[in-house]
Amino acid sequence: MERLASKEIRESIEVDLQKEVSSLNSQGVEVCLAVILVGDDPASQIYVNGKAKSCERLGIKSVVQRMPADTSQADLMALVDQFNKDPKINGILCQVPLPKQCNEQEVIEAIHPDKDVDCFHPFNLGLLAAGIPRFMPCTPYGVLQILRRSQIETKGKKVVVVGRSNIVGRPLSILLSLKGWDATVTLCHSGTKNLEEECAAADILIAAIGSPEFIKAAHVKPGAVVIDVGVNRIEDANHPKGSRVVGDVDYQDVSSKASATTPVPGGVGPMTIGMLMYNVINAARFQAGLDGFEL
Ligand code: NDP
Repeated sequence: MERLASKEIRESIEVDLQKEVSSLNSQGVEVCLAVILVGDDPASQIYVNGKAKSCERLGIKSVVQRMPADTSQADLMALVDQFNKDPKINGILCQVPLPKQCNEQEVIEAIHPDKDVDCFHPFNLGLLAAGIPRFMPCTPYGVLQILRRSQIETKGKKVVVVGRSNIVGRPLSILLSLKGWDATVTLCHSGTKNLEEECAAADILIAAIGSPEFIKAAHVKPGAVVIDVGVNRIEDANHPKGSRVVGDVDYQDVSSKASATTPVPGGVGPMTIGMLMYNVINAARFQAGLDGFEL
């Protein structure tokens, strides 16, 4: 069973992104991402640090604005407004989850669509649904990069996506159905009947469920490619930390049937940050009056 999303693929994406930043810099265009972090959730801190480090490696400037856990919605909206108006900032990201007094959707909709590098704003999701995406949804596009850079053809293939969230499953199903990717897509969810049967018909099976090791050999057609988006922390008394991270796919079980899979951790996750950087670079290009670049 082949292991996808190799170090080489991640590095090749970084090289492409780095080249683009240097080329923009040489034309006098700087690239800058603003990240808002409210509270001290440990996982969010790790994600934000990872994004800042990625910016640094690529030559992208980053501003991380840390706000206390009791920040009011009004103060958060005022900060978004300040970043919206700052011409030096090309992209804005507000790390979720937010504390309970803050309204996540209101913040998403307050970020100017031109700076919405997470591609969460309804305007950008609308462009995607219309088949003319401007920014790319990060995790879905990361999955497509894994397929493209591993020479796995999607054209005419039957792809089954399990999970219909606005962040992963639904935008991924839309992207795959667009011209150029040309897959025949089935989007499954908790209301799907005969899930095993649906999945077992897939040439490419993508799990974005949030349920540890849910996908078993019975869900997989012999020779299918299996992409695991899931990130789940499970207790494990034998692990030094007392817990470990697993995906939505039971690797041991599917290994006899799948031709290739992505690992967890280290598969789709790092691609997601890469695609965020891609959107930040394109935001800077659009704001400088240039067209977006293809990855
Ligand atoms: P959500 O909880 O928002 O969505 C989960 C989806 O899975 C829902 O559509 C749900 O269906 C469906 N689902 C749940 N149980 C079943 C089941 N038994 N059968 C069929 N469908 C089911 O999760 P996200 O999309 O945000 O995330 C999914 C996973 O991906 C998580 O593990 C998350 O941590 C991970 N993730 C990883 C990222 C990365 O960068 N690698 C980025 C984002 C997420 P229904 O709609 O009917 O409830």
